[in-house]
Amino acid sequence: MAARSVGSLGDGAGGVQPLPRRLRFIAEESTNSFVHRLAETNGLAPRELLSMLGAGDALLSEPEFSEVHLNAAAHGRLAALAGCRADVMDHVLPTLRRHPLPDPDGAPPRWDVPNPWEPVNDCLVRVCDLCALSRQARRDAYAVSAAAWRVCARHRRWTDNLREDGVTCIPLTAVPEVLAAHEERVRLERRLGAGGRIAFADAFHIAVFWWNQAAQVPRAWAERHQQLGLQEGSDRRVAALVAYPEIVQLAGVLAARERRRLRGSWSRAQDTDWLRGVQALFASWELRGSFPMEPVLQWAALHSGRAHLSGPKPVRGRYRRLGTSGPHPQAASAGALEALTCLPWRLGDIPETPAQLWSVSSRV
Ligand SMILES: [Zn+2]
Repeated sequence: MAARSVGSLGDGAGGVQPLPRRLRFIAEESTNSFVHRLAETNGLAPRELLSMLGAGDALLSEPEFSEVHLNAAAHGRLAALAGCRADVMDHVLPTLRRHPLPDPDGAPPRWDVPNPWEPVNDCLVRVCDLCALSRQARRDAYAVSAAAWRVCARHRRWTDNLREDGVTCIPLTAVPEVLAAHEERVRLERRLGAGGRIAFADAFHIAVFWWNQAAQVPRAWAERHQQLGLQEGSDRRVAALVAYPEIVQLAGVLAARERRRLRGSWSRAQDTDWLRGVQALFASWELRGSFPMEPVLQWAALHSGRAHLSGPKPVRGRYRRLGTSGPHPQAASAGALEALTCLPWRLGDIPETPAQLWSVSSRV
């Protein structure tokens, strides 16, 4: 690519010259991961590179453990060092646009490391190493993700941030329905926008309720766990993986009701039909009785108010964007699944006083 003049690299670069060696971008990469790669490629220590970005005295961790936040001026300098425009950098590194360091206009460049005790908004997940290799990354790259895992559809792998038994990624060839579900999720979220992401987050947390209680879970979960051939004890690591196809299907069902509600064409009679449909779906997964319906009823109760949408109502047609009215704040349309959902259950939280004595020893 032809060299661009530094003047075109955006404001705030403060005359910073591009480093001699450029990097190939990895989508959704964490800022810390990018900084580490850019530094190493150019023979610098990561800390040295950060000092070129601005002032900061926080302890810098490996990209596996922590993210780095920049203010606007430091962001401009990073773009200049990387030899690209600030808006391109913004597009490639999601943390830059989602968590800029707050600063008044014209503040001097600075960087910081988020407080590890503050609630996490995004998860750091290892980038599929084949994808990283194809971008000529020479070290593990990390991406920011709404969940503690990601699917690489291209290489058919499930990646997370763990290394139990040396397993850094889980091949999905044995469970093709998980890949199909992922494609479906991408379609749903592309079609419905924020509402699609919220429907997935809510469906995921309904599955979390079942998983935590372990009284009844779809039979397919245990079958998939077996097909993956993983060691015992990896249950929690693969909870979302084995449940993925049902979660995505449920997300579609939730989104259908939500679309009608937001259009204002939702009625009590329709809701009875809808609940009957959900029950039939659950029966096909061999979930029976009132227990599996509990979280769905709770979800439906939260999604029962009259919709007050500021924008246009969702319409029929190809682009049926769902808004975020109701229990989901407008601002929370991006970010962690846990921040998106209106439901209270978190993976692995076993209720202290269960309503009944569920077995907690034999999940998945
Ligand atoms: Zn890959």
